[in-house]
Amino acid sequence: MKIKRYLEELAVYEAGKPIELVVREFGIDEESVVKLASNENPLGTSPLVREAIVKYSDKAHLYPDDSMYELKEALAGKYGVSSPNIVIGAGSDQVLSFVSHLLLEEGDSVLTSAVSFAMYDIYASHHGARVLKSESWEHRPEEFIPIIQRERPKIVYLCTPNNPTGDAMLPEDIEKIVEAGDPEETLFVVDGAYMEYASYKDEKYLVEPAKLIGKYPNLLYLGTFSKAYGMGGLRVGYGIGCEELISALHKVRPPFNITNISLASAVAALKDERFLQESLSTHAREVGRYEKFAVEHGIEYIDSATNFITYLFDREGESDRISDYLFRRGVIIRNLASYGMNAVRITVGTEKQNDRLFEVLEEALR
Ligand SMILES: *Cc1c(COP(=O)(O)O)cnc(C)c1O
Repeated sequence: MKIKRYLEELAVYEAGKPIELVVREFGIDEESVVKLASNENPLGTSPLVREAIVKYSDKAHLYPDDSMYELKEALAGKYGVSSPNIVIGAGSDQVLSFVSHLLLEEGDSVLTSAVSFAMYDIYASHHGARVLKSESWEHRPEEFIPIIQRERPKIVYLCTPNNPTGDAMLPEDIEKIVEAGDPEETLFVVDGAYMEYASYKDEKYLVEPAKLIGKYPNLLYLGTFSKAYGMGGLRVGYGIGCEELISALHKVRPPFNITNISLASAVAALKDERFLQESLSTHAREVGRYEKFAVEHGIEYIDSATNFITYLFDREGESDRISDYLFRRGVIIRNLASYGMNAVRITVGTEKQNDRLFEVLEEALR
């Protein structure tokens, strides 16, 4: 058997290291491992979600409602759009895969910022497409526009706020970039996986898909329940776009791609504004401690509009050394060396988890 030529070189995506691995390798007991590597919600999930899971446990033998009527209606209400503007995926990751399936052929190109979400590159390579990168990790219109005009990429990814750097775009800069593309040729994917955190930090970062999709039929907005709603394990994400785009995406969506338990959980999550606000305010308080720690220890950091913070180092190999040291002490963070950055990305945890991180990081820095 011979696999596709352009997949031969592709490495398997390295997901955040699981807690079980640290327990196995270093014999640290599970309770004391601190995982701040995958941008999960440290508060867990809403009690309403847990209720929904229990309630649906006696429906496990039934296929889910493939129209996903209830969740689409709830999302339509939240965003001020209509159900036909929404496609649901097993995480917004799956919506990204739909987009690539729909648009990319061998020889096509996609455009991302210099450092952005790794899945954009991986899905492009599934279809033999080239990945073009802007010069810097910030999404600067003056860098994106000439590349869009010259290369006419099939897809441009605008990740705001950006993973793994944490910086956010202004909606007017998104529009400037989108205006530069030919709607017949280029789709703009605005990935708002951390939008709840960004708009809580500062309203100026809020991207409102209802405003954009009416104006730009070649724009798809992505959201997820994995981050602020604390449902990473349930796999629910969505895309919002004009009806024509969404019905095209449905051609490549497999039936029953979300479990009925996940659907019910997402509907429940949207009803619990209190849990969401608590998650956001706890985060805002705790991220301040990370900024303070950085200043006190002479570490440069990127001002974050997400639920994580990125620390930048000067000394060569420092991000490897730091993340390795922490790992051995049972604190899992994300080394960004594979992104070409001498930096680490740390998910902001609970007060107690953060205390532990500061303690071990202080040891590592000595
Ligand atoms: C986490 C994340 C996603 C999607 O996660 P899912 O769990 O698949 O919904 C998408 N984009 C970015 C930038 C992310 O960080």
